Amino acid sequence: MKKRLSNIVGPGNVSDNPVDLEAYSYCGSETKLKPDVVVWPQNTDQVRRIMLYANQTHTPVVIRGSGTSLVDGCVGEKAAILSSERMNKIIKLDLKNKLIEVEAGIRIKDLNNALGEFKAVFPLIPFNHVKTIGGMLALNAATKESQHLGRMLDWVEEIEFVDGTGKYYYTKKKEIVLGREGLTGFITRAKLRISEQPVISIDVFSFTQLLEILKKVRLLKKDVELYFLEFLDKKTAQELGFDNGYVLLAGYTSLKGKNKNVLEVRKLLEKLDSTHSLLRSKGYYYLQDPFVSLEKTYDLIEWCEKNNVRLHGHAGFGLFYAYFSKEDKNLLKTFRSFIRRINGVFGKGFGYGLANKDFVSPIKKKELIKLKDEYDYNNILNPDKVISYR
Ligand SMILES: Cc1cc2nc3c(=O)[nH]c(=O)nc-3n(C[C@H](O)[C@H](O)[C@H](O)COP(=O)(O)OP(=O)(O)OC[C@H]3O[C@@H](n4cnc5c(N)ncnc54)[C@H](O)[C@@H]3O)c2cc1C
Repeated sequence: MKKRLSNIVGPGNVSDNPVDLEAYSYCGSETKLKPDVVVWPQNTDQVRRIMLYANQTHTPVVIRGSGTSLVDGCVGEKAAILSSERMNKIIKLDLKNKLIEVEAGIRIKDLNNALGEFKAVFPLIPFNHVKTIGGMLALNAATKESQHLGRMLDWVEEIEFVDGTGKYYYTKKKEIVLGREGLTGFITRAKLRISEQPVISIDVFSFTQLLEILKKVRLLKKDVELYFLEFLDKKTAQELGFDNGYVLLAGYTSLKGKNKNVLEVRKLLEKLDSTHSLLRSKGYYYLQDPFVSLEKTYDLIEWCEKNNVRLHGHAGFGLFYAYFSKEDKNLLKTFRSFIRRINGVFGKGFGYGLANKDFVSPIKKKELIKLKDEYDYNNILNPDKVISYR
C-alpha cells in the first residue's frame, strides 16, 4: 500500500514508520486506534487519486486535521489516515469583498495571524487555536462568537471537496460536507467570509444565586448587540481572578459595556481564553460538551457544582464544557445519563465521532445515510463514525 500511495503523493508524504503510526493513533481523547499508514496529500488531485485507490482496494480512510477531536473522530484501526496538514496555504485574499480562499489544513491561529496584518479577522475564534479550518467545517463548529455570528455554515461561501468515490466538487451546496464529520468527503479548500476586527466592550456580572443568572441570560439574549455570553462556575471564576460567585461575561458589538478600553477588553478575553489550560493544570482531564435548554441550565450548573465538575460555556445558546478529573471517570457515565434525563445532548460542540454516537438523532442518522448512499456508497470515509452504515 505504501508504494502505491507514494506513487501518488511522493515518498516523503506517506509513512508506515512505527513512530508516525503511534503518533497518529491518538486524537484529543485517550482512545488508541492504530492506522496502517499515514498520507499527507499536497493538492486536490492527489486526494482524488488516493480516494480512487481506496475504493479499488476497500481501504478505510480516516480524515484528519490537527487531530484534536475529543470524540475519536480522526483515528482508525488499520485505516489510512488522510491528513490535511500539508494543505495549509492561503490561496487568495480579497479584502474589498471580505473573502479569503484557503486550503483546509490551515490552522485558525495561522489564518488569523496572517489576516491581522490587514486588520481583518476570521471572527469565529475557538478556545483551541490549533484547529484546522477543515476540522471546523467538518464539525460546523460553534464558538463564543456564534451567539452573534452563527456557526461555520454562515461564514462559508463555497467549498471544494473530494467525495468518498473520488469525485471532485466545487460548490455552494455546503451542507453536503459541512457538519458531516468527514463522512461524505475530504474538504480540500473553502472560500470564507472575513470581517474587520470587531470593536467590542465587555460587562462582567457576578451572582450568588443560580436563578439570578438565568434571569440575566434571558434578558441579555434579547439584546441585538450581544456578541457573546460566557458562563464560568464559581470556583473557576475565582481561580481566574474574578469576584466570588458565578460569573457571566457579556460582550457587546457597541461600547456600552463597562470595559471598553482595548487593553481592558484584551485582558478579559485572555482570561477567558486561559480557562481550558487552567482547568487542565488543576487535573481536570476529561471534557464533555453538554447542550441543554435554558430551562435546564439551572439543573446542569447545580449538578456540576454538587459533583465538583467544572463548567463553563456559551450560556446564550446552551453549549457548555464540563471538566472531570481523572479519578472521576465513573462519574462521567452518571453525567451522561443525567444529561439525557434533562433532554440534553452531547455532540453539538465536539461532534459525534465514536464517543457521542449514541446521541445522534434518528433524523440526523437518516440524513447521513442518504448522503452516504450518494457520496460514499462503498463506505470508505470515516467508517463506523457517527453512524453505522452497511
Ligand atoms: C483543548 C480543546 C478544546 C476544544 N474546544 C472545542 C470547542 O470549543 N468547540 C468545538 O467545537 N470543539 C472543540 N474541541 C474539539 C476539536 O478541537 C474540534 O472538534 C475541532 O473542530 C477539530 O479540528 P481539527 O483540525 O483538530 O480536526 P480533527 O480533530 O483532526 O478532526 C475532527 C473531525 O473532522 C474531520 N475532518 C478534519 N478535517 C477534515 C477535512 N479537511 N475534510 C473533512 N473532514 C475533516 C475528521 O475526520 C474528524 O471527524 C476542542 C478540543 C481540544 C483538545
